[in-house]
Amino acid sequence: MSPSVAKNLHARVTFRNRLLRWYDAHRRDLPWRNTSDPYRIWVSEIMLQQTKVGAVLDHYRRFLERFPDVKALARAREQSVLAAWSGLGYYRRARNLHAAARVVAFERKGQVPTSAAELRELPGIGPYTAAAIASIAFGERAAVVDGNVERVLQRVTGKPNLGKQETWRLADALISPKRPADFNQAMMELGATVCLPRDPKCLMCPVIDFCTTRGAHARTAKEVRKSKSISYALCRSNAGVCLLQRPKDASRMAAMWELPEVLPNGSDPAAHFRHSILDTDFEVTVYLDGHGSDNGEWIAQSRLPKLALTGLARKILRHFDLL
Ligand code: SF4
Repeated sequence: MSPSVAKNLHARVTFRNRLLRWYDAHRRDLPWRNTSDPYRIWVSEIMLQQTKVGAVLDHYRRFLERFPDVKALARAREQSVLAAWSGLGYYRRARNLHAAARVVAFERKGQVPTSAAELRELPGIGPYTAAAIASIAFGERAAVVDGNVERVLQRVTGKPNLGKQETWRLADALISPKRPADFNQAMMELGATVCLPRDPKCLMCPVIDFCTTRGAHARTAKEVRKSKSISYALCRSNAGVCLLQRPKDASRMAAMWELPEVLPNGSDPAAHFRHSILDTDFEVTVYLDGHGSDNGEWIAQSRLPKLALTGLARKILRHFDLL
């Protein structure tokens, strides 16, 4: 039987040591791991919420080129911030990051709060992100529980319904007092690269000796995805491209720019795409149209790179070499 990391102190220490040794040898070289700048760590943590590392890398580099410090971000217009965020999705994160940067720049003289408790007072920073920034940037012994950590701990304990509070308590008990930042990142790395949702690589796992399930619960969770078809008109003229701005109070992608939606009209489509947003896969068809939409606005092509476009609009405009 595997030693219980929940109750046994010796098991906890060994678990910790094995995990950290594995992390030292196998950690991925990621740009936010080579900095101690709290602003850069903060930006990475916000971008990584619900988003895979591969999708973040390029955005992270470009975003920091454009807004290299918290004051530059605070001074920027919201549309510029959204434009730099375009393609990453979950745009509320960008708005909150921008609002929080203003608090830090204008009310705290540019000083990022150093504790998880203070960080949680900023817009868009919940318990997980606060603990991640406080531990990684400032070495606070604050355990992080994201979806990856939750899965690892549920499998290790053999309790697939381990509640949020119990998970936090266990993570708190396990965290290394000497290396809290590395411990948190090691747990997340284990979940992201070894203890995978459907296909855990248990034979490569540094904590297999402590794991109750060893992958037995994998493959039971079915991902339910929806499919939808949607059509857009690409309207071009000498005046530019006709685009619509989404309502400012829309629940998703508020105030961002997109192509006018149309019904399939029997003419030959100019392009087909597949595009995924959250749990939905879209079959996208694009028709060429010279007239434009009544509610649309003609945007000069030179303005497009700085416009807050939805990820799909950006994809379509790139396909037609307009961006
Ligand atoms: Fe996950 Fe397998 Fe490691 Fe258990 S042994 S923590 S299921 S990778």
